[in-house]
Amino acid sequence: MNRRQKVVALAVVCASAVVLLSFWGSLHFSGMRAREVEQLRLQRVADNAMARASKSFDEIGTALESVASLTMRPCSDEHIALMRQSTLEARGVAEIDYFEDGKLKCSSWGMAEKGRSISLDKPEFTTRGGVDVNTRTPPSAGKGMGKPMLGLFKDKHRVLVDPAHLADIIADPDVQVAVATAGGAMLGSQNAPNAELVGRLVRDKGNDRAIASADKMQAAVARKGELATVGLAPESSMRKQLRNEQLYILPFGFLLAAVAISLLVWLTRSRLSLQGEMAQALKKREFIVHYQPLVRLQDGVCVGAEALIRWPRPDGTMMRPDYFIPQAEESGLIEPITDQLVETVVREMRELLLAQPQLHIAINVCASDIQTGRLLDVLARALDGSGIAVSQIWLEATERGFIDVAAARQALERARAMGFSVAIDDFGTGYSSLAYLQNLPVDALKIDKSFIDTIGGETVTSSVTSHIIAMAQTLQLEIIAEGVETPQQADYLRARGVDYGQGWLFSRALPPVEFIAYCGQHAVRESGASRAAARA
Ligand code: C2E
Ligand code: CA
Ligand code: CA
Repeated sequence: MNRRQKVVALAVVCASAVVLLSFWGSLHFSGMRAREVEQLRLQRVADNAMARASKSFDEIGTALESVASLTMRPCSDEHIALMRQSTLEARGVAEIDYFEDGKLKCSSWGMAEKGRSISLDKPEFTTRGGVDVNTRTPPSAGKGMGKPMLGLFKDKHRVLVDPAHLADIIADPDVQVAVATAGGAMLGSQNAPNAELVGRLVRDKGNDRAIASADKMQAAVARKGELATVGLAPESSMRKQLRNEQLYILPFGFLLAAVAISLLVWLTRSRLSLQGEMAQALKKREFIVHYQPLVRLQDGVCVGAEALIRWPRPDGTMMRPDYFIPQAEESGLIEPITDQLVETVVREMRELLLAQPQLHIAINVCASDIQTGRLLDVLARALDGSGIAVSQIWLEATERGFIDVAAARQALERARAMGFSVAIDDFGTGYSSLAYLQNLPVDALKIDKSFIDTIGGETVTSSVTSHIIAMAQTLQLEIIAEGVETPQQADYLRARGVDYGQGWLFSRALPPVEFIAYCGQHAVRESGASRAAARA
């Protein structure tokens, strides 16, 4: 596979991943949303049922207390009238009975029928308040004959409650409502929920926001004191909700996938076209070199320059190397680009370097050229016969190029053995440590612009700058400060014994002719004072 095919293949893989992910994501998300919406709906049902049931039980409790405190003769007209009164006051209470020796004596309807003996059932359970509860009590008389009631007995009185009344809230037709004891016994219900399932849900305390999937039901439970309420709905209701959610969310998934894919297509195309254009530019020798002067901070004398590549575009602008160098490195085009730069530097600077042997030109070396040492042979060939001394060429390498320390070390050693000087570029931004630096054969450090920028500020990094300078001095390396823009920065650096500076304060990167002129203006000149001293 060539590079182009690789880029396209990668793009296709990414695009498929994006499509799958966005669909899976929107399905997953709508499923989650639907479940949540359904859970909230059922929780509301359970909470409403709880409010209703609590209120009913408070009223039932009040009714039981008021009849228990009666002092008149049991089953007197007055007693029966008061029981009837309490029945009317507490909604849901259908009847109040009075028992003596376990037999019904009278009720809110009147005296017990003669000849028909109704005895008190054994309680199914007793509440903490001492009320005996039977969930299926037949009424003794009156309407509702035969329909089982909830019987609540304390002392001598029994209250009968219509179980439908306890759970009588307004709910959607697909929803079932259950009111139960904290132990799981169903006291009242709406739409006939499965009592066994209700009991299980109520008893399983860790499962309040439960989906009872085995029963194809989703449920929510509310608890308060001795009561528990449950809202239930078949899972098919949720699927309806899910379809609603998907109707909204899936188009978003589509849109997201479409946006991501167009972005990918655009990126791939611009990458492929940038690579193509770089290859074209190489062929047409469109890359040019600008030279940014390096000055001695002590006296402002120009000691050389850094060669910086420039790519003039048809629209008259320059494409920034920050933008195309990383892609050139990735595609391997950086090597021929560097070769062309070396050739150009030798051609343009030969005369100047021959005339002024103390000047040097620094060339940026990419990571792969450090690992392989390839550039050294290219340089040796280019310099051969030109008359330029090897010592007039400096190599700038960033720490990124030193990942494989052993290989880098070998290449740097060879470079120095051949006579080149080596500088570490962007110093301070990588993972430099003293131990690591001591092991690398280098001549100079270029302190990164970000540190120079902090000079004069009160930030933490500004103190780091002085440490970095001190560190370089400990290693007895030459120091070059990058990106010097203000006289204050230059003063600070000079005061700390930094040797060289490079930056817009002195000059921007210049075309060759202008750089040669700059060198002429900033050359070592015998000052009047030193001439006088020499004469004396
Ligand atoms: P670098 O090696 O750190 O180069 C210094 C950069 O800082 C240059 O940007 C230079 O124009 C800029 N600069 C210098 N003084 C100042 C200043 O006072 N203020 C500000 N704001 N900037 C200043 P440029 O030319 O855009 O180069 C960017 C990067 O591209 C270089 O960073 C270098 O890593 C890479 N590069 C440039 N030319 C080549 C080349 O021929 N080969 C390789 N491999 N990389 C290159
Ligand atoms: Ca550099
Ligand atoms: Ca740099």
